[in-house]
Amino acid sequence: MRIDIITLFPEMCEAVLNESIIGRAQKSGAVEIECHQLREYAFDKHRRVDDAPYGGGMGMLMMAEPIALCFEDICRKTNSRPHFIYMSPQGKTLTQERLKELSALDSVCILCGHYEGVDERLIEEYIDEEISIGNYVLTGGELPALVLTDALARMIPGVLSGSECFELESHYNSLLEYPQYTRPAVWRGREVPPVLMSGHHKNVEDFRREQSVIRTAQKRPELLENADLTDKERRLAESVIFTEYKK
Ligand code: SAM
Repeated sequence: MRIDIITLFPEMCEAVLNESIIGRAQKSGAVEIECHQLREYAFDKHRRVDDAPYGGGMGMLMMAEPIALCFEDICRKTNSRPHFIYMSPQGKTLTQERLKELSALDSVCILCGHYEGVDERLIEEYIDEEISIGNYVLTGGELPALVLTDALARMIPGVLSGSECFELESHYNSLLEYPQYTRPAVWRGREVPPVLMSGHHKNVEDFRREQSVIRTAQKRPELLENADLTDKERRLAESVIFTEYKK
């Protein structure tokens, strides 16, 4: 997959994306990420990309034309038309379900807004999807773009050691992940559940599945609506929810 990021702060994005798992994934070629400095597409000598909003009001707005020029340049250079996403608090909140769909695309381009946001006409003309990372407002789209890029990249084949790395994790199947433990076997008087040290794979698997159901019912019962549970698991979840409710 190829991910292009249009931003006023490419160094900020690169500093994060060149590290750790995503950095290694770029080096191995599993994912190609390029950050584009929007100011390079400004058309005045001061490299301005923002202006005051018509009608007055607080702050500045990002102009449509530099963004359009940058996106068109990316399309030309990559000989493709990437799915164009604007990170925005007005978008649909990002979910693991949407990430599954997006990770199947060949390329996405992510626009990071700044100031008061972006001229509405650019959104109408070019943006395929607005994505929010939550119901709060940040100063810029870089952190949301990094969240999206990281979450997307780890689902691309070859980035993690296998798909089970993310398929068993929280949210993938509308369940939270089971609790995990590492050495020592007893820490400050707290023991690791004995089944995990039994070496009995089926029992470990059953224990983990049950724990996933229990902790989803305890912490995020609303997720269970979309979870694929057996009748027995559903009864277990209901009893946990009932016990939590009585607390
Ligand atoms: N005036 C805009 C509004 O009220 O909808 C908010 C603009 S915000 C200060 C500046 C930029 O930060 C946005 O253009 C967007 O790219 C990014 N941003 C802020 N909060 C975000 C969120 N929750 N999710 C995704 N992007 C966000």
